[in-house]
Formats: sequence, structure tokens, C-alpha cells
Amino acid sequence: MTKFIFVTGGVVSSLGKGITAASLAAVLEARGVKVTMTKMDPYINVDPGTMSPFQHGEVFVTDDGAETDLDLGYYERFLRHSKMSKSNNFTSGRIYQTVLNKERRGEYLGGTVQVIPHITDEIKNKILASGEGYDIAIIEIGGTVGDIESLPFMEAVRQMQVELGRNRAMLMHLTLVPYISSAGETKTKPTQHSVKELRSIGLQPDILICRSEHYISPDNRRKIALFTNVEERAVIMCEDAQSIYQIPRTLYEQDLDDIVCERFGMNLPEADLSDWDKVVEAQLNPESNVTVAMVGKYVELPDAYKSINEALLHAGITHQTSVNIDYIDAERLETDEGLFAQLQQADAVLVPGGFGERGTVGKLKAVTYARENNVPYLGICLGMQLAVIEYARNVLNIDANSSEFDRKTAEPIIGLITEWLDERGELQIRSDDSDLGGTMRLGAQQAELVAGSKLSQIYGATRISERHRHRYEMNNRYIEPLEQSGMKISGYSAKQHLVESVEISEHPWFVAVQFHPEFTSSPRGGHPLFNSFVKAAKDHHATK
Ligand code: GLN
Repeated sequence: MTKFIFVTGGVVSSLGKGITAASLAAVLEARGVKVTMTKMDPYINVDPGTMSPFQHGEVFVTDDGAETDLDLGYYERFLRHSKMSKSNNFTSGRIYQTVLNKERRGEYLGGTVQVIPHITDEIKNKILASGEGYDIAIIEIGGTVGDIESLPFMEAVRQMQVELGRNRAMLMHLTLVPYISSAGETKTKPTQHSVKELRSIGLQPDILICRSEHYISPDNRRKIALFTNVEERAVIMCEDAQSIYQIPRTLYEQDLDDIVCERFGMNLPEADLSDWDKVVEAQLNPESNVTVAMVGKYVELPDAYKSINEALLHAGITHQTSVNIDYIDAERLETDEGLFAQLQQADAVLVPGGFGERGTVGKLKAVTYARENNVPYLGICLGMQLAVIEYARNVLNIDANSSEFDRKTAEPIIGLITEWLDERGELQIRSDDSDLGGTMRLGAQQAELVAGSKLSQIYGATRISERHRHRYEMNNRYIEPLEQSGMKISGYSAKQHLVESVEISEHPWFVAVQFHPEFTSSPRGGHPLFNSFVKAAKDHHATK
């Protein structure tokens, strides 16, 4: 029977609830527990797929094609044996949609539909379903205690605690313990208030995680325990860390995993965290450093590229190299010569995914620069489409474009499959799925890599699986001219024979892929493509 740990946050947001919850999951996994994690988001959007990266950060894509909150990325990076799926992230909007659909179908038999019990029942069903097949499910509730929006989730948690009982459910609350420098004091009052707020809705935390910039003294710990009614040993200190991958050890050293196992009556071997120690050791003691220029549209909010940032960090860990990311605003790059000079300082160029035309001129400029100057280039999704457009324009002298940016372009080297079918009648793909165009290609799909290609060497395989999130595809009509002029197709999708990746044979490291390798990178080992890219950046750095 699955046991549940509910995780709430108090005082302020951005305390790292997802990271802390995932770190606990990592320690439990290291003890042999089969653990999964779910994020419940209190907003009304049905899923984060259409939400602006400026507001919400990256959309994380799972193997089964769910567009989810970026916290699921942390869950996967901290866990080795569990992958996230559609059932691991849901919003208030999704819950209401399900309930309203049932109401329209008459499933409530004319009864009055209410937050309690109908909304809360739906939440409970989804929580239970997400934990199926696991020993422990950690359920994170988005937002902070006291928000009106999260009340139905809190109420569902309260009910589940009663229904499941003490040895199947517990509550962990993350709070801020601020340090007031003018007074030279650590303050416990916000934590007391935040727990009071929780208790007013019937929730008593079993564990408190106290986030702070400073060391919290045993006296303060005792005080927090006393005022919040939490066992003293379950008041866990979590100071700001140099690396998020230190958190599993921080929790382990305060016996948080023992507290959980005791409560759930689980008798398990000790956790071995040596692989996390190695990750931290390599991250904090780099022997070299490189700079990667990331040319994108959402540079003010690095969270918009969370998984890429992490994948580069992991590749750095693999090579004991510190990877500095220089975020370059693609739109400014179009005209700003100073910014272009900054781009030239970098050891490698990366153009990430994106939607819409804004900034593409600057991104194309970055591609041209990398291609002509033998600077390592990694293009991801839109970054591949632009690499293809750039090559066609500047090497093949074709006025090529993507129909995403110019619907009437005479040379749609990138386009929707349906457009080729309907308007041009010249689709040259072996497709058994004509529904593909116009909808997103989402989630994990297999690709066949061309034997002997750089990409197949990087992966050490000719059959790979990677996640997708895009609508537009390279038009197969252009494969031949591209290949004849030196841009090689290095991979095709196994099912539809769509172009998955390109590379330039004459270039030391120019690789662009239609899929998103960043979603599957792990701190423990990195990802072959990012590892190879960072190695190429190191090699390039050495030649400068
Ligand atoms: N806008 C492009 C498409 O839809 C690329 C998407 C992306 O980079 N994720 O195909």
C-alpha cells in the first residue's frame, strides 16, 4: 500500500520546495524505496503547455508527452528509477475541467456540485492514482499556505490524512527562518505563524524544513519545535547550499529518512549517498572552465531554460569543468555590436528551443558566426530549424524560411506536415500518421541515427529515444541539396522518417537536433550530447 508524504510551503515562495522534496526522494530511493513524486498546481490553467516561460519558467516534457511544471524536471534529475508521467502533475484547472465534464454528462445525477466533496474527491483520486505501484509517493502542493487558491488541495490532504491514518500519510512543511542582520538575530516568528495558518485548516506538520541563509542555533530549533508542536528532531535545518545536489546529504545527516521510515514502519538498509558526494565534489572543484553563449528570447528569466542550464552543469560535472552560461538576448544581438563582441568571447554557442519569429534574426546571426568560425554549435529544436535555414540561405543561396515565420514562403524548408500535404502535394515522407501536422509532436520517440555520423558516435548507438515538443518539421524535399552541400542528416524518426538531426561534416562540432536532449540529462552521468558539446567547448577554449 502506497504511503504519502505531503509537502507544503509557507511564508514565501521560491524556497526550493521541489528541490527539497526531490532530495528526500533521492535519499529514500538510496534506501531501496520505490518512490514517485507529484506536483499539484493551484492555478486555473489546465496545464502549463500554453503558459509563458517569462512567468512560469520552462515547460518540462515527460516521456509520455505531458507538458508539465518544471519541478518535474527536478524530480527526474534526483531520481534514477522513476520517470514522471501525465499523472504526476495536475492543476486546479484540470480538476475543475474533469468535474465540470462529469457534471455535463449528468454523472452527479442532478446533485449540487461543490468544492467539498466533488473537487476534493477528484483531487484525492488523482493523488491516489499517481502513487499506484510505488512504496512512497511525495506530493508537492504548489503555492504557499494561506493562498485562497490552494485551499481545496489542503482540504484534500487533510481528508487523506484521516482516511489513510498515521502510518500511511505524513506532512512536511517548508518554511523560511529569516536572519535580520540589523538586529543580528534569527527570527522564528514567520515559521510559527505559518504553522498556525496550517493548523487553522486542520493540518499539523510532522516535519518542518527550515530554510535559511544562516546557521540556526539549537536554541532556536527547540523554540520552533515548542511553538509548532513538531518533534524537535523533525525540525530540519536547511541552510542555503552551494549546490542543490548537497541537499540529499543535508537531509540524511539530520536523519530525515529515518523519521519517515520509522513513521511508516519500514525497515530498510542505510542510504549510500556516495554518488551524490561525487557529483558535489566534481561540481565544487572544477579544474577548468568554459563559457557557453545561449542565444534566446527569454534571457531575463534563466528558469525558462532550466533543463538546459542543468544539462550544461551536468556535462561540466562529468568533465570537472565549470560551465558559465552567457545569456544573450537574441533580439538585441540583431543590432548590438557590443553584444556580438560578447558572443565572440564564448567557447561555444547554443540556440535553444523557442516559438515565434521574434529574435530569429539574431539567432541566425549567431549560427552563421559559429558555423563560419568553427565554434562548437548545439542547436535544439528551433535551434536546429534555424541551423537548417541558415545553411540553406548562406551556403545553398536559397531564400529558405520556416512557414512558422512566413506562411507564404516560396522555400518552406521548415513547415507543417499538413501544409505540405494540403497545399503542395509534394510530401516526401514515409508517413503513416497524417494527423501529425498542426498538432505538437510531444514526448519520447525513437530515432534512427545514421551509422558513421558524429551523432551516432556521440550516443554510441544507432537507435535512441528522446523527447519532442514542436509542430514544425524539416521538409524532406530539401534533404538532397543540403546533403550535397555538406550538411548531413544524422538521424531520422523511426516511425515517420522525419529529420531528427543535422550536422556539418567539415565543422569540428556542429550538431543540431529536433528533439530536447536536456530533459533526460542527469547529474549522475550527464547526457552524451551535452557531455560531448562541453568537451568540444573545452577543446575550442584550448585553441584560443
Ligand atoms: N517553434 C518550433 C516548432 O514548433 C520549435 C519548437 C521548439 O523549439 N520547442 O516546431
